[in-house]
Amino acid sequence: MSGRNLTTLRTRRSGDMDTDVVIVGAGPTGLVLAIDLARRGVRALLVEKADQLFPGSRGKGLQPRSQEVFDDLGVLPGILAAGSAYPRMLAWEGAERQGEWDMLERSEPTEQVPYAEVLLIPQSRTQELLYARLLELGGAVRFGAALTGFRQDEDGVTAELSTGGTVRAAYLVAADGGRSTVRRGLGIGMTGETVDPRPMLVADLRLSPGAVVDRGNWHIWAKAPGGGVALCPLPGGDTFQLVAGFEDETAAVDTSPGAVRALLAERTPLTGDEVVEVLWASDFRARAAMADRFRDGRVLLAGDAAHVHSPAGGQGLNTSVQDAYNLGWKLGQVLRHGAPTALLDSYEAERQPVAADVLGLSTRIHRASAEGRGTQRGAEVQQLGLGYRDSALSVETRAGLTEDALRAGDRAPDGPYGAARLFDLFRGPHFTLLAVGVPLPAVRTDAIRAARLDAYESYGTGLFLIRPDGYVGWAGANADGLDAYLAAVGAGGPERPRDLVTADA
Ligand SMILES: Cc1cc2nc3c(=O)[nH]c(=O)nc-3n(C[C@H](O)[C@H](O)[C@H](O)COP(=O)(O)OP(=O)(O)OC[C@H]3O[C@@H](n4cnc5c(N)ncnc54)[C@H](O)[C@@H]3O)c2cc1C
Repeated sequence: MSGRNLTTLRTRRSGDMDTDVVIVGAGPTGLVLAIDLARRGVRALLVEKADQLFPGSRGKGLQPRSQEVFDDLGVLPGILAAGSAYPRMLAWEGAERQGEWDMLERSEPTEQVPYAEVLLIPQSRTQELLYARLLELGGAVRFGAALTGFRQDEDGVTAELSTGGTVRAAYLVAADGGRSTVRRGLGIGMTGETVDPRPMLVADLRLSPGAVVDRGNWHIWAKAPGGGVALCPLPGGDTFQLVAGFEDETAAVDTSPGAVRALLAERTPLTGDEVVEVLWASDFRARAAMADRFRDGRVLLAGDAAHVHSPAGGQGLNTSVQDAYNLGWKLGQVLRHGAPTALLDSYEAERQPVAADVLGLSTRIHRASAEGRGTQRGAEVQQLGLGYRDSALSVETRAGLTEDALRAGDRAPDGPYGAARLFDLFRGPHFTLLAVGVPLPAVRTDAIRAARLDAYESYGTGLFLIRPDGYVGWAGANADGLDAYLAAVGAGGPERPRDLVTADA
């Protein structure tokens, strides 16, 4: 993005808005945000410089918390149908099978956690399903349109596109990936480190049916000459994801189909001929870095534009999805329901500490795996324990809670609600007021869904206002202070959306 573009764009008046939000980049972050805005009636223009969705499998692990997000967004049935459980690992030395182990600590679904395990699904398939949902909601992606420049002023942002012309919007969200041109254009630095200076190759392959590797395991040659190799069978076809390391830091990685075939023939018992097709290949070096700021005025950074991870532990895509999910309802409340713009300050305040923790986690897992220790993944990668207790948006008015009590800032767990589930109540763009073991108060606003249930172990008792992104925003023994909270998040309006019900379990 040139300086000229940044400085020479024409500024138009605020009344001229072409759309509410320009989203740059149709990766997982941009697609999730576009879906969330579409279901809130917020106009968005999603521009993508490529002519099509990204075709590779790279972020292939969908953590339980992301599955909950996808449940809320209406994409989970398709995701579950297209994905599979993670296979067990199978260690090889040359052509000899050495034994199996499980990378995951397996767990069963519970009332509170309906999706208990990471799901294996290629990133390209996840993106296709998100895109289909966006179309269903009346949204679109403008492919082949790169953001080439932008300028912001007090009233809005003017974006310049490679297809010609400018677009005026109230906000611009940079979902344009790790090399974000928006972030660079703003001069926001990335602070971090190289996790591993040795390059890696990642590719999607089709192998011939008679090949020595079966589709029941994730095959690992940890001590292969030149660097370790992993072949993971991907659901929904006959493809495998190849990840190969290089011991030599200075190695120039050749991603051509011929070089990928030669690498497999050299390091594994597969012959080059058994590789029927190389569908996609790329190289990378594991980095962990975070943008110094996630917001500059009317421009917000989300996903890889704000933080880049080692792929170890499957955190990058998942953290990105949740950035978008955190931001979507806040933009909706500001743009559609008159919430103070200060609500947007909470985006960086809430997501930066989460990103910092997740970066630390993926770096630890990467280094432990590289050193051959601690390769099993447990609850720490599932993102169910992440929350916002320290956020200014988390208001806990009850005193004397026990250490393990559910409180403001925590993820709101699922649970039974009559013949249905609490997640059925939460599903949609609204706030939910739960009266658990206490009477449901007559709240002044109708812009929330309200329900009463008997005291329930994972909630205890009290009034819980659940944010649209599934966290407890406010909690109290009674409704004192609730109205003020609702006003601060733009949910104090008088209208009653027709589909919202007040119910008793
Ligand atoms: C090699 C590799 C392996 C990975 N493996 C894993 C893994 O195993 N598990 C995991 O969880 N994560 C993994 N990741 C990370 C994961 O893929 C990312 O975290 C995820 O894609 C981030 O989504 P995003 O939408 O923020 O960015 P991206 O997916 O990068 O999407 C950004 C989009 O913006 C578009 N764009 C860029 N500039 C512009 C512009 N100026 N105008 C318009 N459009 C633009 C790009 O074309 C792209 O489509 C891996 C990443 C890489 C690179």
